[in-house]
Amino acid sequence: MFGPRIGAHKSIAKSIDLAVDRALASTCECLQIFSRSPRRWAKGSNLSSEVIDRFVNKSEKANFFDTTIHMPYLPNLSSPDEKLFEKSVNVLIEEIDMSFRIQTPFIVTHLGSPKGHDDMYAAKQVANALDSAIEYLQQKNRTPKASMILLENSTSKKKLWGTKIENFESILSHVQEDAFVGICIDTAHAFSTGYDIRTPEGFNEIFDKINDLTGNNRIKLLHINDSKGELGSGIDHHEHIGQGHIGIACFRELMQNKRFENLPMILETPKDDIDSDKQNLDLLRELRSIRN
Ligand SMILES: [Zn+2]
Ligand SMILES: [Zn+2]
Repeated sequence: MFGPRIGAHKSIAKSIDLAVDRALASTCECLQIFSRSPRRWAKGSNLSSEVIDRFVNKSEKANFFDTTIHMPYLPNLSSPDEKLFEKSVNVLIEEIDMSFRIQTPFIVTHLGSPKGHDDMYAAKQVANALDSAIEYLQQKNRTPKASMILLENSTSKKKLWGTKIENFESILSHVQEDAFVGICIDTAHAFSTGYDIRTPEGFNEIFDKINDLTGNNRIKLLHINDSKGELGSGIDHHEHIGQGHIGIACFRELMQNKRFENLPMILETPKDDIDSDKQNLDLLRELRSIRN
Protein backbone atom coordinates (compact mmCIF):
# COMPACT_ATOMS: atom_id res chain seq x y z
CA MET A 1 0.00 0.00 0.00
CA PHE A 2 1.15 3.51 -0.79
CA GLY A 3 0.67 6.39 1.62
CA PRO A 4 -0.33 6.83 5.25
CA ARG A 5 -2.70 4.58 7.21
CA ILE A 6 -5.95 6.30 8.05
CA GLY A 7 -8.34 5.73 10.93
CA ALA A 8 -10.38 7.50 13.57
CA HIS A 9 -10.86 8.14 17.26
CA LYS A 10 -13.40 5.62 18.55
CA SER A 11 -15.41 5.28 21.73
CA ILE A 12 -14.66 2.52 24.25
CA ALA A 13 -18.23 2.69 25.63
CA LYS A 14 -19.44 -0.54 27.23
CA SER A 15 -16.12 -2.34 26.69
CA ILE A 16 -12.73 -1.23 25.39
CA ASP A 17 -12.56 -4.01 22.77
CA LEU A 18 -15.71 -2.61 21.11
CA ALA A 19 -13.58 0.33 19.94
CA VAL A 20 -11.85 -2.09 17.56
CA ASP A 21 -15.22 -3.32 16.23
CA ARG A 22 -16.38 0.26 15.77
CA ALA A 23 -13.17 1.13 13.93
CA LEU A 24 -13.49 -1.83 11.59
CA ALA A 25 -17.14 -0.99 10.88
CA SER A 26 -15.93 2.46 9.76
CA THR A 27 -13.13 0.93 7.60
CA CYS A 28 -10.36 2.30 9.84
CA GLU A 29 -6.77 1.18 9.28
CA CYS A 30 -5.58 2.49 12.67
CA LEU A 31 -7.16 3.60 15.93
CA GLN A 32 -7.13 6.14 18.76
CA ILE A 33 -9.08 5.86 22.02
CA PHE A 34 -9.54 7.47 25.41
CA SER A 35 -8.90 4.81 28.01
CA ARG A 36 -11.08 6.69 30.56
CA SER A 37 -13.54 9.55 30.69
CA PRO A 38 -11.71 12.52 29.10
CA ARG A 39 -13.49 15.35 30.96
CA ARG A 40 -13.40 14.12 34.56
CA TRP A 41 -10.71 13.29 37.09
CA ALA A 42 -11.94 9.75 36.97
CA LYS A 43 -9.88 6.81 38.01
CA GLY A 44 -8.39 4.77 35.19
CA SER A 45 -10.45 1.81 34.05
CA ASN A 46 -9.87 -1.36 35.97
CA LEU A 47 -9.97 -3.82 33.10
CA SER A 48 -10.23 -7.54 33.63
CA SER A 49 -7.66 -9.73 31.93
CA GLU A 50 -10.46 -11.19 29.86
CA VAL A 51 -11.41 -7.79 28.42
CA ILE A 52 -7.76 -6.95 27.81
CA ASP A 53 -7.28 -10.22 25.94
CA ARG A 54 -10.28 -9.45 23.78
CA PHE A 55 -8.89 -5.99 22.95
CA VAL A 56 -5.43 -7.34 22.17
CA ASN A 57 -6.73 -10.20 20.02
CA LYS A 58 -9.11 -8.03 18.06
CA SER A 59 -6.39 -5.40 17.54
CA GLU A 60 -4.01 -8.04 16.26
CA LYS A 61 -6.56 -9.40 13.81
CA ALA A 62 -7.37 -5.90 12.59
CA ASN A 63 -3.63 -5.15 12.23
CA PHE A 64 -3.96 -2.16 14.57
CA PHE A 65 -0.39 -2.32 15.80
CA ASP A 66 0.11 1.30 16.84
CA THR A 67 -3.08 2.34 18.58
CA THR A 68 -2.87 5.65 20.45
CA ILE A 69 -4.29 6.39 23.90
CA HIS A 70 -5.31 10.05 24.09
CA MET A 71 -4.76 11.54 27.56
CA PRO A 72 -7.86 12.99 29.25
CA TYR A 73 -8.23 16.78 29.01
CA LEU A 74 -7.94 17.87 32.67
CA PRO A 75 -4.31 17.00 33.43
CA ASN A 76 -2.06 20.02 32.91
CA LEU A 77 1.58 19.17 32.30
CA SER A 78 2.68 22.83 32.30
CA SER A 79 0.73 23.82 35.42
CA PRO A 80 2.47 26.09 37.96
CA ASP A 81 0.24 24.58 40.69
CA GLU A 82 2.39 21.94 42.35
CA LYS A 83 -0.51 19.69 43.36
CA LEU A 84 -2.21 19.83 39.98
CA PHE A 85 1.12 19.22 38.24
CA GLU A 86 1.80 16.16 40.36
CA LYS A 87 -1.72 14.83 39.79
CA SER A 88 -1.25 15.37 36.06
CA VAL A 89 2.04 13.47 35.95
CA ASN A 90 0.34 10.63 37.85
CA VAL A 91 -2.38 10.40 35.20
CA LEU A 92 0.28 10.32 32.49
CA ILE A 93 1.99 7.42 34.26
CA GLU A 94 -1.34 5.64 34.74
CA GLU A 95 -2.04 5.97 31.03
CA ILE A 96 1.43 4.59 30.29
CA ASP A 97 0.55 1.62 32.49
CA MET A 98 -2.70 1.19 30.59
CA SER A 99 -0.77 1.20 27.31
CA PHE A 100 1.44 -1.61 28.68
CA ARG A 101 -1.63 -3.65 29.58
CA ILE A 102 -3.44 -3.22 26.27
CA GLN A 103 -0.15 -3.44 24.32
CA THR A 104 -0.28 -0.13 22.47
CA PRO A 105 2.77 2.07 21.84
CA PHE A 106 1.51 5.68 21.81
CA ILE A 107 0.17 8.04 24.46
CA VAL A 108 -0.72 11.46 23.04
CA THR A 109 -1.03 14.47 25.32
CA HIS A 110 -1.81 18.16 25.14
CA LEU A 111 0.63 20.48 26.84
CA GLY A 112 -1.71 22.25 29.25
CA SER A 113 -1.50 25.85 30.32
CA PRO A 114 1.21 27.58 32.38
CA LYS A 115 -1.42 30.16 33.53
CA GLY A 116 0.42 33.33 32.65
CA HIS A 117 3.97 32.01 32.95
CA ASP A 118 6.19 32.32 29.88
CA ASP A 119 7.21 29.84 27.18
CA MET A 120 10.45 28.90 28.91
CA TYR A 121 8.66 28.11 32.16
CA ALA A 122 6.09 25.98 30.33
CA ALA A 123 8.72 24.11 28.33
CA LYS A 124 10.69 23.25 31.47
CA GLN A 125 7.56 22.17 33.29
CA VAL A 126 6.47 19.85 30.45
CA ALA A 127 10.02 18.51 30.22
CA ASN A 128 9.94 17.75 33.98
CA ALA A 129 6.70 15.83 33.52
CA LEU A 130 8.17 13.92 30.59
CA ASP A 131 11.34 13.12 32.55
CA SER A 132 9.25 11.50 35.30
CA ALA A 133 7.25 9.50 32.77
CA ILE A 134 10.34 8.45 30.84
CA GLU A 135 12.12 7.40 34.02
CA TYR A 136 9.13 5.14 34.64
CA LEU A 137 9.36 3.72 31.11
CA GLN A 138 13.03 2.99 31.64
CA GLN A 139 12.39 1.30 34.99
CA LYS A 140 10.01 -0.98 33.11
CA ASN A 141 12.66 -1.65 30.46
CA ARG A 142 10.62 -0.17 27.65
CA THR A 143 12.26 0.96 24.43
CA PRO A 144 11.11 4.03 22.46
CA LYS A 145 9.89 1.68 19.75
CA ALA A 146 7.52 -0.01 22.22
CA SER A 147 6.40 3.11 24.11
CA MET A 148 6.38 6.72 23.12
CA ILE A 149 4.79 9.89 24.45
CA LEU A 150 3.49 12.12 21.69
CA LEU A 151 3.10 15.86 22.19
CA GLU A 152 0.14 17.39 20.38
CA ASN A 153 0.04 20.99 19.19
CA SER A 154 -2.85 23.05 20.57
CA THR A 155 -4.65 26.12 19.38
CA SER A 156 -4.61 29.39 21.21
CA LYS A 157 -8.09 30.72 21.98
CA LYS A 158 -8.36 29.00 25.36
CA LYS A 159 -4.87 30.06 26.44
CA LEU A 160 -3.57 26.57 25.95
CA TRP A 161 0.15 26.22 25.55
CA GLY A 162 2.00 24.32 22.83
CA THR A 163 0.55 26.10 19.84
CA LYS A 164 3.87 26.95 18.19
CA ILE A 165 6.38 24.66 16.53
CA GLU A 166 9.13 26.35 18.55
CA ASN A 167 7.46 25.10 21.77
CA PHE A 168 8.30 21.53 20.78
CA GLU A 169 11.91 22.48 20.16
CA SER A 170 12.29 24.02 23.61
CA ILE A 171 10.64 21.09 25.38
CA LEU A 172 12.93 18.65 23.57
CA SER A 173 15.99 20.68 24.50
CA HIS A 174 15.14 20.19 28.20
CA VAL A 175 14.16 16.51 28.14
CA GLN A 176 16.79 14.02 29.33
CA GLU A 177 15.90 11.16 26.96
CA ASP A 178 14.23 12.63 23.89
CA ALA A 179 14.05 9.29 22.05
CA PHE A 180 10.86 8.57 24.00
CA VAL A 181 9.21 11.77 22.78
CA GLY A 182 7.39 12.14 19.48
CA ILE A 183 5.09 14.73 17.97
CA CYS A 184 1.46 14.61 16.88
CA ILE A 185 0.36 17.41 14.57
CA ASP A 186 -3.33 18.24 14.57
CA THR A 187 -4.11 19.98 11.27
CA ALA A 188 -7.13 21.92 12.61
CA HIS A 189 -5.12 23.21 15.60
CA ALA A 190 -2.17 24.19 13.39
CA PHE A 191 -4.42 26.03 10.94
CA SER A 192 -6.45 27.92 13.52
CA THR A 193 -3.18 28.90 15.23
CA GLY A 194 -2.12 30.55 11.96
CA TYR A 195 -0.07 27.95 10.08
CA ASP A 196 -1.32 28.16 6.51
CA ILE A 197 -1.28 24.57 5.30
CA ARG A 198 -3.83 25.09 2.52
CA THR A 199 -1.36 24.91 -0.37
CA PRO A 200 1.36 22.31 -0.96
CA GLU A 201 3.96 25.09 -0.70
CA GLY A 202 2.74 26.36 2.66
CA PHE A 203 2.23 22.84 3.86
CA ASN A 204 5.74 21.68 3.00
CA GLU A 205 7.32 24.81 4.41
CA ILE A 206 5.69 24.15 7.79
CA PHE A 207 6.52 20.46 7.92
CA ASP A 208 10.12 21.21 6.81
CA LYS A 209 10.34 23.65 9.70
CA ILE A 210 9.09 21.03 12.16
CA ASN A 211 11.78 18.66 10.93
CA ASP A 212 14.46 21.35 11.15
CA LEU A 213 13.53 22.27 14.72
CA THR A 214 12.75 18.86 16.19
CA GLY A 215 14.74 16.37 14.12
CA ASN A 216 13.69 14.18 11.22
CA ASN A 217 10.96 11.61 11.83
CA ARG A 218 9.85 13.16 15.11
CA ILE A 219 6.26 13.22 13.86
CA LYS A 220 4.68 9.85 14.65
CA LEU A 221 0.99 10.66 14.31
CA LEU A 222 -1.30 13.17 12.65
CA HIS A 223 -4.76 14.24 13.67
CA ILE A 224 -6.42 15.01 10.36
CA ASN A 225 -9.27 17.44 10.85
CA ASP A 226 -10.63 20.24 8.72
CA SER A 227 -11.36 23.45 10.64
CA LYS A 228 -14.56 25.41 11.28
CA GLY A 229 -12.37 28.24 12.55
CA GLU A 230 -10.53 30.44 10.06
CA LEU A 231 -6.78 30.80 9.71
CA GLY A 232 -5.39 32.31 12.92
CA SER A 233 -8.80 32.40 14.63
CA GLY A 234 -7.67 30.26 17.56
CA ILE A 235 -10.98 28.42 17.36
CA ASP A 236 -10.76 24.69 18.07
CA HIS A 237 -13.71 23.37 16.15
CA HIS A 238 -13.15 20.40 13.87
CA GLU A 239 -14.95 19.93 10.55
CA HIS A 240 -15.38 17.12 8.02
CA ILE A 241 -12.53 16.71 5.53
CA GLY A 242 -12.84 19.24 2.70
CA GLN A 243 -15.77 21.08 4.27
CA GLY A 244 -13.92 23.55 6.46
CA HIS A 245 -11.55 26.46 5.97
CA ILE A 246 -8.51 24.25 5.35
CA GLY A 247 -9.98 22.62 2.26
CA ILE A 248 -9.25 19.54 0.26
CA ALA A 249 -5.80 20.45 -1.18
CA CYS A 250 -4.15 20.04 2.22
CA PHE A 251 -5.60 16.58 2.68
CA ARG A 252 -4.58 15.55 -0.84
CA GLU A 253 -1.05 16.61 0.08
CA LEU A 254 -1.24 14.64 3.36
CA MET A 255 -2.32 11.51 1.48
CA GLN A 256 0.30 11.94 -1.25
CA ASN A 257 3.35 13.36 0.50
CA LYS A 258 6.13 10.80 0.80
CA ARG A 259 7.19 11.98 4.24
CA PHE A 260 4.01 10.51 5.74
CA GLU A 261 4.33 7.08 4.16
CA ASN A 262 3.03 4.46 6.64
CA LEU A 263 2.30 6.97 9.41
CA PRO A 264 -1.01 6.60 11.25
CA MET A 265 -3.47 9.46 10.70
CA ILE A 266 -6.52 9.80 12.91
CA LEU A 267 -9.80 11.59 12.21
CA GLU A 268 -11.33 13.60 15.05
CA THR A 269 -14.08 14.98 12.85
CA PRO A 270 -17.77 15.31 13.81
CA LYS A 271 -19.71 12.08 14.17
CA ASP A 272 -23.05 13.29 12.79
CA ASP A 273 -24.17 9.75 12.19
CA ILE A 274 -22.80 6.26 12.17
CA ASP A 275 -21.36 6.65 8.65
CA SER A 276 -19.52 9.94 9.19
CA ASP A 277 -16.07 8.46 9.78
CA LYS A 278 -16.44 6.06 6.87
CA GLN A 279 -17.43 8.89 4.54
CA ASN A 280 -14.35 10.91 5.52
CA LEU A 281 -12.15 7.83 5.17
CA ASP A 282 -13.60 7.03 1.73
CA LEU A 283 -12.77 10.54 0.58
CA LEU A 284 -9.24 10.28 1.96
CA ARG A 285 -8.73 6.91 0.29
CA GLU A 286 -9.76 8.47 -3.00
CA LEU A 287 -7.16 11.19 -2.49
CA ARG A 288 -4.58 8.58 -1.52
CA SER A 289 -5.18 6.55 -4.67
CA ILE A 290 -4.48 9.41 -7.10
CA ARG A 291 -1.26 8.83 -9.01
CA ASN A 292 0.57 11.86 -10.34
ZN1 LIG B 1 -5.92 16.03 21.28
ZN1 LIG C 1 -6.23 16.38 17.97
